[in-house]
Amino acid sequence: MFVAMNPSAQLVTLVAHEQAAKLRGQKFVCPACRRPVRIKNGAVIPAHFAHIGPACQAASEGESADHLQGNLWLAALGRQLGYQVTLETYYAAIKQRADVVWQRAGQTLVLEFQCSPLNPERLVTRTRGYHQLGVTVVWVLGPRYYSKRPGTMQARFLQYSPRYGYHLWFSDGREFLEVWQWEAQGYRVTRYGSKRPVTRVIGTGRAKANVARLIQNQLHYREPNALTLQALAYQQGHHLAGAPWLIHERPLSLIGIKAPEWQLRVKFLLTLGQTDISREKFIAFWAAQRVPVLTPLVSQTTLIKLVAARWLEVLEDAQLLVATNTGWQWRAVPVWYPDLISKLNALR
Ligand SMILES: [Zn+2]
Repeated sequence: MFVAMNPSAQLVTLVAHEQAAKLRGQKFVCPACRRPVRIKNGAVIPAHFAHIGPACQAASEGESADHLQGNLWLAALGRQLGYQVTLETYYAAIKQRADVVWQRAGQTLVLEFQCSPLNPERLVTRTRGYHQLGVTVVWVLGPRYYSKRPGTMQARFLQYSPRYGYHLWFSDGREFLEVWQWEAQGYRVTRYGSKRPVTRVIGTGRAKANVARLIQNQLHYREPNALTLQALAYQQGHHLAGAPWLIHERPLSLIGIKAPEWQLRVKFLLTLGQTDISREKFIAFWAAQRVPVLTPLVSQTTLIKLVAARWLEVLEDAQLLVATNTGWQWRAVPVWYPDLISKLNALR
């Protein structure tokens, strides 16, 4: 943490090693818990305050090197982008300490630079706290979260806004801040840093044949979800490795869904593939695929609805499923292959 309170109840922000050296020997307390903190002024990490006893909840993350360095960098970036910046604003009403606050013309952005794990309950509580105060909170994921293929670990921080759609923020705390905007089959990534913002597209789509091979591998390595689906397929005289090509068609590749999209699609075929599908059955099937804890900051219902709508579109475009007054009717059955080899041969 960079901000502590002196005996005259003034807040002191550490900004430099020289300043910290001059303040040595003075007494300071944590602005949140009011317990004593001391100055740490080594050569590697920025000068900062640390609780003498165990860190309180408000400050618990503020004492790691990545986190300290990153907060200073995000503060500098904010200034460069024309914001008024404050480090570690403590909001007593909600007992939360914001890492960095950017302010500009009536707009307040709280940046939380997340370098450690955070459980979904605390994530939701902290987000709600800021919403109560009417400020926007931006969760910025630190180095441990950075990945070319965001997955479950990052999905927890998935946010939605009209401006960015579904998106994630990342920073290495040294050189860049990036917003990853989800698009079907990829991300539009805009990087902010010392230069002008630069945008690139990172594809997440995989070749159909590779996903087909992956299913075979999952069966080989006895991946539990694949085995469950295989058991269901077997009862209907099918083999999972020979699942219809359609399940690989135009996936949304959304993160925060409990299983890969192809698995949900296979499950759909094996559950509802034999009969007419009423609207109620359709809704119940997809409702059962929701796992709200995976995406505490966005509606799981909405995410699943998107996946369901895309799958319906694929089935309707292939003229396998047609809408009726009460739901849908199968017009033809998608083709299953006896095994992976036959499936791959059919692609040629
Ligand atoms: Zn404290």
